[in-house]
Amino acid sequence: MTDELFRSDAYLRDCEARILRIEEGGVVLDRTVFYPQGGGQAGDSGWLVLSDGREIAIADTRKAKDAEGKATQEILHVPAAGQEALLGALKPGDDVSARIDWERRHRLMRFHTATHLLCHLVPQPVNGCSITPEYARLDFHMTEPLDKEMLTAGLARLVDASHPLTVGAITDAELDANPALVKSMSVQPPRGTGTVRTIRIGAADLIDFQPCGGTHVANTHEIGAVIVTKIEKKSANSRRVVLGWAA
Ligand SMILES: [Zn+2]
Repeated sequence: MTDELFRSDAYLRDCEARILRIEEGGVVLDRTVFYPQGGGQAGDSGWLVLSDGREIAIADTRKAKDAEGKATQEILHVPAAGQEALLGALKPGDDVSARIDWERRHRLMRFHTATHLLCHLVPQPVNGCSITPEYARLDFHMTEPLDKEMLTAGLARLVDASHPLTVGAITDAELDANPALVKSMSVQPPRGTGTVRTIRIGAADLIDFQPCGGTHVANTHEIGAVIVTKIEKKSANSRRVVLGWAA
């Protein structure tokens, strides 16, 4: 099992860790700051720094899967191409320093938090989500048209208002009693421990509240200049909103 340090503190850029296993798909550590691809958010990239200072480039992070293809509690740090020689020098029990590409992760955190603001501006069920460093998109299950300029202005207003974000938890039973909290039709809340992690944006004003396992910034102000670059009619009852960085 990998201790997921990014769950309690999304701002951690590195951590000391011990190698548990090295397998074909990647390196498993006892603890990590690397977020594994999930909930629409891309996996982290970065480096594993060996005790002698050599660095293994990590291209992606995934949840490990068992023989039946089910995600386990372990996280795979997927090496970039050409790291074989360095990987060959690693063995279980070795200490490494795990360091994420922070510039890239911070863009993911800003976009991810912006998608929560979109959920406030477009109160419709979400049936698709993808968050990358270059763009983010949310698909809403709806038939009405959406206005690009109005949404960009709405995002700017919520960013300027500097709403704080807080991480909390509710029990599985509380979630079952309040199914409307789940806004995503495509991503299931991160269950399995008896409680589900929740994200709340807004202190006195409630901007958004929903189960979410991703990484976010602590205040909407930190999102900065995000704009809606495109709105697409994906199907008769699906509207895709694409976010980008303002030039
Ligand atoms: Zn989230």
